[in-house]
Amino acid sequence: MVTNADGLVPGTAARYAPAPPRTAGMRSPAPTPLSGSPTHAGPHRRLQAVRGGGTMDLRAAERAVADLLIALGRDPASEHLADTPSRLAHAYAELLTPQEFNLTTFPNEEGYDELVLARGIPVQSLCEHHLLPFQGVAHVGYLPGERILGLSKLARVVELFARDLQVQERLTKQVADWLQQHLAPRGVGVVIEAEHLCMSLRGVRASGSRTVTSALQGSLREDMRSRQEFFALAGVNG
Ligand SMILES: [Zn+2]
Repeated sequence: MVTNADGLVPGTAARYAPAPPRTAGMRSPAPTPLSGSPTHAGPHRRLQAVRGGGTMDLRAAERAVADLLIALGRDPASEHLADTPSRLAHAYAELLTPQEFNLTTFPNEEGYDELVLARGIPVQSLCEHHLLPFQGVAHVGYLPGERILGLSKLARVVELFARDLQVQERLTKQVADWLQQHLAPRGVGVVIEAEHLCMSLRGVRASGSRTVTSALQGSLREDMRSRQEFFALAGVNG
């Protein structure tokens, strides 16, 4: 069952404003029947996902970028670079600010008990070691318990954690943990395949190489057949 998380957060978290730690608060149930079949008429539930890091100070970021340009031997006052501090500060602010979303869950009235998998969800994030992007795809699956999830929401959960300074391993685990905690399925599997610009542009210049990470919970972790089925459907070798 979806539970009301501790530290309930009201439905608005201003962009670039201080926000509490990652959490999700349960909104009041919306007893709207789904269109279509009356057998689906059970209430669906909405969790609003709100995530935030520290305060973002755009002006300070602009000053810091101008300082960085000077430190790199460039002239931030030149015509070509005049707007670069502002552009870069805004670009990072956007990359580090996830959109809020409502996590709508529905009762699993048909008792669907096979794997639900969203494959090839785009992932864009920032490596916290180099502040350079890494990007690729996520495959997110779960074995439904008492509730099922709107499919587009799996991509939203990925974005919720990708818009942060990250390492791929932590991002993968955060998506799995969040789904386990808020959807309470019988199992969760997350695979992320991504190329890191800090590897392909510099250092070993391993262009095209992809890093694959996975996080499994519940029966996808414990049951060999479920696990193999997940990896087969995700298109990776488990
Ligand atoms: Zn890196």
